Amino acid sequence: MTVTPDHITVPREQTAGLPQLVGLTREGMREALIEIGTPEKQAKMRVGQIWQWVYQKGVTDFSEMTNLAKGFRETLAENFTLERPEIVTKQVSEDGTRKYLLRIAGGHEVEAVYIPESNRGTLCVSSQVGCTLNCTFCHTGTQKLVRNLTAGEIVSQILIVRDDLGEWGNVINEKRMLSNVVLMGMGEPLYNFENVRDAMKIVMDNEGISLSRRRITLSTSGVVPEIARAGEEIGCLLAISFHATTDAVRDKLVPINKKWNIEALLDSLRAYPRLSNSERITFEYVMLKGVNDSDEDARRLVKLISGIPAKINLIPFNPWPGSPYERSDWNRIEAFGDIVNAAGYASPIRRPRGEDIMAACGQLKSETERARKSRKQIEADAGI
Ligand code: SAH
Ligand code: SF4
Repeated sequence: MTVTPDHITVPREQTAGLPQLVGLTREGMREALIEIGTPEKQAKMRVGQIWQWVYQKGVTDFSEMTNLAKGFRETLAENFTLERPEIVTKQVSEDGTRKYLLRIAGGHEVEAVYIPESNRGTLCVSSQVGCTLNCTFCHTGTQKLVRNLTAGEIVSQILIVRDDLGEWGNVINEKRMLSNVVLMGMGEPLYNFENVRDAMKIVMDNEGISLSRRRITLSTSGVVPEIARAGEEIGCLLAISFHATTDAVRDKLVPINKKWNIEALLDSLRAYPRLSNSERITFEYVMLKGVNDSDEDARRLVKLISGIPAKINLIPFNPWPGSPYERSDWNRIEAFGDIVNAAGYASPIRRPRGEDIMAACGQLKSETERARKSRKQIEADAGI
């Protein structure tokens, strides 16, 4: 595939140092406004007005908030910033997938990937710089955790992509280019719970980004103690990086399994709030040649998850430089899917997107935090 590079650099405004308004909860912003002298009685209404400007119209300059008094706009500008993280590079794949490398405070870099489809579009957002976990098939897992993203940095990924798509103003839900959000970029979202929750509340709020909770999917490797809380406090759809059908194999592929094993994970899923046929759990299953892709694995999988409303997303492994696994053959993936399907579960095979720009699942990794682990170390972790 040919790559269509489209590198752009956005000049940074000099507002560094001022606190960011994007990402504050309604209550947090109300308090911040009161602190700069907004009368308490007005503060709640001002929050709603500001949210509409920021999250529905995409405004980055307080002076454009024309339904606020001029003096108030000036006070806001003296005390806060609406500055976005900087786009370091943007790459566009042949299939239309867009990968953005963003620079956040401290000079760290994270990626966000926009995947257009015929009548909708999904943004894959990052929740951490790097990851504390080291799943052996995941590129991000070769990178140490640098830090959690703030709620503002998580929401800003959506704002930046809407800037780039030119999608501001009155968009009807069904017509949105950015219609779905998946927390499947860099990082483990349930290890950054509060920031992810606050960010998603803004995404779901009718005066915020205004996407329904059913258009948001949080993917976790299996942080069992936080799963019920995600259902209660966020209420979005859930995806589980399952990837193996025995503890011995899952311990290698998804090492968090040593802490919370398959049984503990499945118990927590059976208890997930609002679990129903219309709100099924997605089991992500990366297809690794000769590791987890046998007919026996498929049969074990359907047995394990019996009773859980679920769909199985089969993900052909996306290789990265130095990766210790190979993608299962296509007919193997289909045979696996047939067994799962015959047991009554939808088992779509995920079509890799943006392969020519390394934008596919598990390939994300920032340039600045490049390979901390050697190839030898990666192979040792994978047990080969
Ligand atoms: N940390 C979270 C979310 C980010 S990973 C989690 O693990 O769920 C998003 C998805 O990409 C997960 O299902 C992950 O297992 C999968 N993934 C990671 N590396 C991959 C690779 N090289 N090829 C295919 N899928 C991969
Ligand atoms: Fe972290 Fe998810 Fe990658 Fe595992 S698959 S290393 S949890 S980002």
